[in-house]
Parts: sequence; structure tokens; C-alpha cells
Amino acid sequence: MDIRLKLLLISAMIFFGLGAIFILQTFSLGKLRIIACDVGQGDGLLIITPHGKQIVVDGGPDGKIIDCLSRYMPFWDHEIELMVSTHPQQDHMAGLVIALSKYKVDTVMTTGVVNKTAMFEQWKKELSANKPQIYTPNAGDELVVDNSGGSDVKLDVLWPTREKIDQWRDTPPSDLNDSSVIFRLNYGPPDGGFCAYFDGDIPYKILEQVIDRQCPVLKVAHHGSMTGTDQQVLSEVRPQVALIQVGAKNKFGHPHKQVLDMLSAMNVKVERNDLSGDVEVDSDGKSYWVTSDK
Ligand SMILES: [Zn+2]
Repeated sequence: MDIRLKLLLISAMIFFGLGAIFILQTFSLGKLRIIACDVGQGDGLLIITPHGKQIVVDGGPDGKIIDCLSRYMPFWDHEIELMVSTHPQQDHMAGLVIALSKYKVDTVMTTGVVNKTAMFEQWKKELSANKPQIYTPNAGDELVVDNSGGSDVKLDVLWPTREKIDQWRDTPPSDLNDSSVIFRLNYGPPDGGFCAYFDGDIPYKILEQVIDRQCPVLKVAHHGSMTGTDQQVLSEVRPQVALIQVGAKNKFGHPHKQVLDMLSAMNVKVERNDLSGDVEVDSDGKSYWVTSDK
């Protein structure tokens, strides 16, 4: 074949290939997507709003989150609109440090609670090098993260309060898990739309005090440990789907059998990253559907 014809054919194939990817990645917009990434033992979630804005909630213990982001973000998009760091521990923050160096991050939500680790020093370094806007959460704040034709995607901050954060500036909490950011993601009409709880590694003693409405989706606190979930939390949330971010054969024995028993007694569909790989929950603001890798 003529070399020029060959080149023309190859460029046409590349052109149409890229076009197909573009259409596929654009076509998946118009709905809210929550992806619990399979990051091993740790938390790492990606939320994609109906207009294609990305919110990353924690980043897992290493660079696996980057693979997840590149699986679900369009290949031309290198911007993360909001990054939420629930609390400064390795299994939640280490992947965020790497994501900060690889993506343009507009805003970082962080309590500013410090941890005396090399990883945390690296986090501070990346923040000062990349200069995202810093947003300090305060219980009661409502952030509209996407306006979708009258049906907003809203993030309600439930914990901690600004007062607590001010205290922790001088004396960090003895258990860093207590400082985990808790928020509810809402889509659709305020009463009856879709919602989901995100809660880092918060103990149930704090979680049960701030839950104020039922939601079909609960990101189970603290990888399904006994400290993150009790009957009261489950009775208040009434989840239909429980996302447990947990690594296979982890040394902590997460998730705890008692937590799994409570969930199964309430007929909650349990989705674990160690068994299912990436887990995705999508919503149109009314109903929702769950898919997973395995
Ligand atoms: Zn954790």
C-alpha cells in the first residue's frame, strides 16, 4: 500500500478512536456518579457530578487512586475541582499527596489537623507548591457543587465544627479519627432525592449525633470496624447500600463480623472493595443503581 495512504488510514483510525472515547466519556455525564475506588486498605472515592466536575474524597494508602482516577476521568481532564481530606492518616491521605502533584486541584477541604509523619510533611509541601484554595469545613455549611437545571448537587458538612477545629489547632485530638470530616451528598429534590453519607474513620459516637435524615447509601465508617458503626447509626441512616472500603486480608480484621451481621440483619446490600474491586453508585436524583468490577 502507498505509504501516504497508509498514514492517512492510520490517522483516520486514531481520529475516530479518540472521537469514540470522547463520545463515551461525555455520554456518561448527566448523572451523579460515586466510585469507591479499589485502593486496598484505605479510603479513596471519586464523585463525578452531572456536569462532569470531580470531587476526590481521600486517596488511599499509595498511588492506586491515580489508576482509578484515570479509569473514570476523561483522558483530557487534568483538573480536580474539589479534594476532600477527611483526616491526616496514611490510609486516607497518602494517595492525595500523589494526586496533588499530578492534577490541578482547585480547592482542598481540610480541617488542618496535623499529623507527625513524613507523609504529612509531604502533604504540606504539595499544598504550598500547588496553592489550591483551602476550605476549612464547618458543620452546617452547604456547598452547591453542581447546578443541574434546578436540581443541585449539594454537599452538607455535618462534622466537625469550626470551634472544634480551632481547639485542635493547639491540641490535636488524641484519636485523629475523631477529626474525620462527615458530609452528606444530596442530589435531586431536598425531600426524597438521592443522598449518601461520607464519614472517613469517624467513631459511631460522633456519627450518630450528626445524622439528621435517612439516605440509601452509607460509606461505612472506619473500614467496617466496630468503632465506626452501631445499631443507632444504622437505624438513623436506614441504608440500602453499604460501601466498605477495605483491603483483602488486612491485618486489622476489617470489616468486623458484628458490623456485617448488623447490616445483613437489616437486609443492606454490602459492597466491599476487597471482593468487588471498584464499586460505582449512580443516581439521576431520584433512583440509583450499583455496579462493580467483579
Ligand atoms: Zn482509615
